[in-house]
Amino acid sequence: MSAELASPIQREFNPWLAAEARFDEAAERLGLDEGICKILRTPARELTVHIPVQLDDGRLEIFTGYRVQHSIARGPGKGGIRFAPDVTLDEVRALAAWMTWKCAVVNIPFGGAKGGVVCDPAVLSDGELERITRRYTAELVEFIGPESDVPAPDMNTNAQTMAWIMDTYSMHKRHTETAVVTGKPLDLGGSRGRPEATGRGCMIVTWEALRKLGINPSNTNVVIQGFGNVGGMAARLMSRAGMRIVAIIEYDGAIYNPHGLDVDAVARHRRETGSILDFPEAENMDRDEALLLECHVLLPAAKENVITSQNADKIRAQIICEGANGPTTALADKILEERGIFVIPDILANAGGVTVSYFEWVQDRQGFFWNAQLVNGRLEEIMVNAFRDVVGYAEKHKVNNRIAAYMLAMDRVAFAVKLRGIYA
Ligand code: GLU
Repeated sequence: MSAELASPIQREFNPWLAAEARFDEAAERLGLDEGICKILRTPARELTVHIPVQLDDGRLEIFTGYRVQHSIARGPGKGGIRFAPDVTLDEVRALAAWMTWKCAVVNIPFGGAKGGVVCDPAVLSDGELERITRRYTAELVEFIGPESDVPAPDMNTNAQTMAWIMDTYSMHKRHTETAVVTGKPLDLGGSRGRPEATGRGCMIVTWEALRKLGINPSNTNVVIQGFGNVGGMAARLMSRAGMRIVAIIEYDGAIYNPHGLDVDAVARHRRETGSILDFPEAENMDRDEALLLECHVLLPAAKENVITSQNADKIRAQIICEGANGPTTALADKILEERGIFVIPDILANAGGVTVSYFEWVQDRQGFFWNAQLVNGRLEEIMVNAFRDVVGYAEKHKVNNRIAAYMLAMDRVAFAVKLRGIYA
């Protein structure tokens, strides 16, 4: 999409422009020089592939895939691969940049990358998905690797997808290379704690935010949007930690119980009926209305552009913990800031996933695996430190948490770029 020609709403929802808006503000506050800014804003490498894949009915279809390495200044590119019918290069670019900042916020030695394949997993068989994944990986063999760029799961991809990528890459290299991707099954070099890591990270930073605002976590109402890997895990872990999950919002509607939902029972109900709706111990609710419920914590853990200039003034949460990437638009940021809502920005809130990906990569390279206690303990240490770094930075520089997270991250990446110097 041409950013210049877009309507105001398209501009607000364009993920690349959203990332740019935050980047520009943080760069100005940091007083970054123009040359460094140019480097930090430009993706280092972008690859587009058009891959032929045979469908189950014998037809040949061409699928388009992307992989963008935004920065490798602090280490190999790192970031997920998403499968969705509406993936665009702009979106993958923005998400790759977000990964650079995310890895820098939690201070792990990676740059940022992201991939996507334009396809609709809902209408593809497992065999078709496997063939798409393998052919896409084959096109990327020279581009990815444990030392250069390490993919992971993202929207509509999972541990099985990673196993196919690992196998395809290894077949080309003629030896097994587990460290080429993270988020793999446990038996193929995956890490303990990886599936729940993003949700656990959300729980840890929410806990810190509650303490910071003087709210007792065991007397806390939480509204969660999205009941997938991130939202579902966060719901389970938060409710185990004593928080009350009063509403869960999915694409087909929401359920609400002011006394708290039994999260495991909701998961069972969805498995049996295919939907969270009509859960016996809750009332059904309109999903847009549920987003505006009064609560201590709102956790958007589904998709981009959920909190926008259209609804930010009506949100009644004290804390927003961004489990998803980019759930709040740049215009909404301003409104939330004016209203004093404490936002835990995505590049901090959902960094638990990539942090345990880092642990997985380390374990694969050492061939020595940690127990769950070690993984979770180290995750907690990193998330708590990053939370305190960001909030401390926000207070010191009198900016909101998101801009503080960007400033902190960009400062770290800029420092690496300067130390390395420019190769000519
Ligand atoms: N896709 C996840 C994210 O957006 C995880 C990335 C990773 O583990 O590399 O953070």
